[in-house]
Amino acid sequence: MNRLEGKVVIITGGAHGIGATTVRLFHQHGAKVVIADIQDHLGQAITKELGENVCYIHCDVTNEDDISNLVDTTIAKYGKLDIMFSNAGIVDRPSGSILDTPKSDLERVINVNTIGAFLAAKHAARVMALQRKGCIIFTASACTSIAGLSTPAYAVSKYGILGLAKSLAAELGGCGIRVNCVSPYAVMNSIQGLSEVEAAKSEAIMSAIGNLKGQVLRAEGVAQAALYLASDEANYVSGLNLVVDGGFSIVNPTLIMARDRL
Ligand code: NAD
Repeated sequence: MNRLEGKVVIITGGAHGIGATTVRLFHQHGAKVVIADIQDHLGQAITKELGENVCYIHCDVTNEDDISNLVDTTIAKYGKLDIMFSNAGIVDRPSGSILDTPKSDLERVINVNTIGAFLAAKHAARVMALQRKGCIIFTASACTSIAGLSTPAYAVSKYGILGLAKSLAAELGGCGIRVNCVSPYAVMNSIQGLSEVEAAKSEAIMSAIGNLKGQVLRAEGVAQAALYLASDEANYVSGLNLVVDGGFSIVNPTLIMARDRL
């Protein structure tokens, strides 16, 4: 059961949603977890709930001093860093069209999603290279596998993560560091601000559109995929974009519809 026994993990965006679910799962599997987020009250509440082996550090991933402090504080407390799960992310306004996207929206999304991921990886690599061992996981998105799932600004920010992950898998492999992405389809039970009814409605719509029937993607499903990448079971897996989408991005639905009509 304890697939991460004794491992030291940082999870950015760990105060809510997919990150918070992963904090709980990794903790259950024996990891020492550092939650890094800007929602202090939520992060501290999880720390209080889980108790031993979980702590919270305020960290805005767009601020390099915050990230540097996060990694240094983790090393001072636990003496090593095994896994950096760079998961913090935001979406831009849902209008969709490039024509309605102000430059400031693009910059805001890239700043958190891409630059934040770059800085998290940079400072994790700084200590992991000395250890000659480590694991970096990014949360990208299924929009890196199929178009139309997101706004253009969000797609730019997540494709940037994919390029970063591949580039780092090549650069850091020589130091024994594995670098991978987990790329979810829609996870409606993790969206902050949605009521339970709204979340259930959106989940039903996304499941109906989805390819795999009889299953619903929830934050737990993404956390399980991250657990695999973080664990020693994936000890020769690097440079992978693990798309958790039930096959959505590899299926052309017009073929299925045509088949069903026959
Ligand atoms: P969420 O909003 O529930 O969680 C994101 C967390 O990141 C929050 O706790 C938030 O406070 C934190 N965060 C935001 N900006 C930050 C900053 N500057 N510094 C530090 N922390 C910051 O969203 P989620 O759905 O759990 O998303 C987690 C990741 O999964 C994101 O990278 C998101 O893009 C990605 N993703 C989500 C979905 C989905 O459908 N929910 C699909 C694909 C990818």
